[in-house]
Amino acid sequence: MKLVIAFALLFSLLAASSSTAEKFDFFYLVQQWPGSFCDTRQGCCFPDTGKPAAGFGIHGLWPNYAKCRSGQQGLALARAMLGDGGAFLSAATVGRRGKCWPEYCDEGNPLRPWEIRDLVASLDRDWPTLSCKSGRSLEFWSYEWKKHGTCSNLAQHDYFERALALKAEHDLAAVLAGAGIVPSDTDTYALSSVSDAIARGTGFTANLECNRDADGEVQLFQVYQCVDREGKELIDCPLAMRSKCTDQVKLPVF
Ligand code: AMP
Repeated sequence: MKLVIAFALLFSLLAASSSTAEKFDFFYLVQQWPGSFCDTRQGCCFPDTGKPAAGFGIHGLWPNYAKCRSGQQGLALARAMLGDGGAFLSAATVGRRGKCWPEYCDEGNPLRPWEIRDLVASLDRDWPTLSCKSGRSLEFWSYEWKKHGTCSNLAQHDYFERALALKAEHDLAAVLAGAGIVPSDTDTYALSSVSDAIARGTGFTANLECNRDADGEVQLFQVYQCVDREGKELIDCPLAMRSKCTDQVKLPVF
């Protein structure tokens, strides 16, 4: 009997966590350098609207927790709620890696294209797909909405409108160019000069992510700017990120 109650409790716990939008602490506005997406071994394809401009493109607006909830914390919480009946739970049951962000908060709320029809021209320009799967940016936006947007507490139109407005505040490629960091297939730049340029040019610290080109060279891939819970104002990033960046990075031509 105890076991049945324990399972029922666990089930309702999991169901509740998947159906309600979770509380989060800030957003990451993630912008991507297309040259660094395209020159990996995997390569890229241009969308049906043509080759995107040589500027940073939006990857997503992602709700994030200020403190990751570790697998062990989740385990302890579930066991505490189940009392003796929770002894059968293992780290594998609740997830070993823990959670640093909410995702897929409402599977019953897919992106409805007509809700964002007035934004499509701007989204095509600023949030283009580079994936070879479909070539249609709408699929990329739908995926980002489903995974991250449904946890944002924003309506579909507001979610995309705010991401576009935040991107429009600062042209990251121009900010970097102002500091002498321009696309090149030969030059490398000190990682600290990239973060300093962004902090100075936007007024706020950001996190940086790198990847490797087909020759294994490290390059700036994505810039994570931090944004308040309303998705309106930039803030200093409250969390450092583990990143694959090295002291010197490239910014490949696109
Ligand atoms: P996410 O799950 O939101 O972290 O996004 C990761 C997924 O987005 C991966 O499947 C990537 O391949 C895909 N992705 C990243 N950048 C782009 C892009 N510019 N166009 C299309 N898909 C992308």
